[in-house]
Amino acid sequence: MSAELQAIAAEAQRRRTFAIISHPDAGKTTLTEKLLLFGGAIQAAGTVKARKSGRHATSDWMEIEKQRGISVASSVMQFDYRDCVINLLDTPGHQDFSEDTYRVLSAVDSALMVIDGAKGVEPQTIKLLDVCRMRDTPILTFINKLDREVRDPFELLDEVESVLKIQCAPVTWPIGMGKTFRGVYHLASDSVALFTPGEGKDAEVVKGLDHPSLAGFSMEIAKLKEDLELLAAAHQFEAEPFLSGKLTPVFFGSAINNFGVREILDALVANAPPPKTRESAERAVAPEEGKFSGFIFKIQANMDPAHRDRVAFLRVCSGRFERGMKLWQVRTGKEIRATQVVAFLSQRRATIDDAYPGDIIGMFNHGSIEIGDSFTEGENLHFTGIPYFAPEMFRAARPKNPSKIKQFQKGLEQLGEEGAIQVFKPLSGYEVVLGAVGVLQFEVVAHRLAAEYGVEILLENKSLFGARWVTCDKAEDFNRFERENMGNLATDASGSLAYLAPTRVNLDLTQERYPSVQFHATREHT
Ligand code: GDP
Repeated sequence: MSAELQAIAAEAQRRRTFAIISHPDAGKTTLTEKLLLFGGAIQAAGTVKARKSGRHATSDWMEIEKQRGISVASSVMQFDYRDCVINLLDTPGHQDFSEDTYRVLSAVDSALMVIDGAKGVEPQTIKLLDVCRMRDTPILTFINKLDREVRDPFELLDEVESVLKIQCAPVTWPIGMGKTFRGVYHLASDSVALFTPGEGKDAEVVKGLDHPSLAGFSMEIAKLKEDLELLAAAHQFEAEPFLSGKLTPVFFGSAINNFGVREILDALVANAPPPKTRESAERAVAPEEGKFSGFIFKIQANMDPAHRDRVAFLRVCSGRFERGMKLWQVRTGKEIRATQVVAFLSQRRATIDDAYPGDIIGMFNHGSIEIGDSFTEGENLHFTGIPYFAPEMFRAARPKNPSKIKQFQKGLEQLGEEGAIQVFKPLSGYEVVLGAVGVLQFEVVAHRLAAEYGVEILLENKSLFGARWVTCDKAEDFNRFERENMGNLATDASGSLAYLAPTRVNLDLTQERYPSVQFHATREHT
């Protein structure tokens, strides 16, 4: 192997690219901040929080973000930890939950699930875990807020196992909780990390349960010993089921108190996978290949309020990206010189010199790049597994001023292609139906149509249960299905046919009635 290839393989090997999945308020922002703090990427707590509350330059666009408290700058956070380079990708949550949130998960190699110990498994966590499951992404679990009265840890693990259908292998186990939270016991090393409230960085660790430091906690230790007997039946951590997404190592802690954070970083380094081979329509692409390749998983409009620029986020799949290199956009066949167009979205460096598999680079463009686009050094590769997700919310849209119909159509076509929203044109009638997974997507689209295309729109609630893309191998059956369901069928921005179901019952019945028709909850970018 040449020195160049060896260098690429070594750099790929030390990348850990992951995202946090959680329900709002479980502690994602707090934990993100603590991870950055421990990784040395920020000096003081409060930095990420300040962004969350939004102190940005002003513009109308930024105004929305400010109101919504969205952080745009922290989309990708890179820092060094031990011998690894960690890429933490933000998954927009709260009201800015959108398809982007899902798509980010197509660009990571593992995910950290954060659960509020008092609340257990919550709806958004279920959704996000389902998305991870599409690629069998390895999941680490952090059960947060042990400094509060939380639910019984066994009950929490049972819930994770039964609701999320993933086996739990506790790595640490809590000693007490709330006012009597004393720390966590590391099952494998028979040691205790002692809890002290506050923002001290590293907990004191003592060996064995008879250590004098534990003398004052006899009640909690007695309970722990009982727990340990029951834990003999728990799953053990094993690499293989973890790497295939079937088993999750579980850690307990308190993010706000910096407690349990170090263990998470150490587990990422020790157990989470580096970039692996990615599928493309043509062939499998290994990270250590010499030639550069990557795909676009997210597009963010107008990060710089002075311009109408968009930033396309590219995940590097193979090879080395170097400043100034030419990239080939496979879909259009165009060559893009990356001299000025590339920004490195990193806490470490403002601009990029080089990037390796697992890293994310941002490419400025004016709408020429779409989600799902592959970039290479010339090879015809189409990366797969960057899906559109069935929308869950719908609005009927029309221009306020009917004479603006052209701009309206053009704007929606482009925003639809960019992936900001899904645009459905029913086969019968003239209405346009917008579909989203997060309500903010509608506001963003309304705002951008006004700002970028000069057209104000009116949105009306459309009560639909969901959309499913439909395919069928039997032309005759499909024709009959289309004929009989004209009123519920629509085409999306790519021309793919979708069934818009008014209710769940309707969807179930329709699926039963047309067994040869397949109903898909996702659609691959083409
Ligand atoms: P996000 O919505 O998931 O990003 O959650 P945040 O990080 O903003 O946390 C939500 C709330 O939980 C905030 O008030 C945090 O201060 C609080 N919080 C986070 N971690 C802990 C913890 O370990 N213990 C306690 N008691 N509160 C926490």
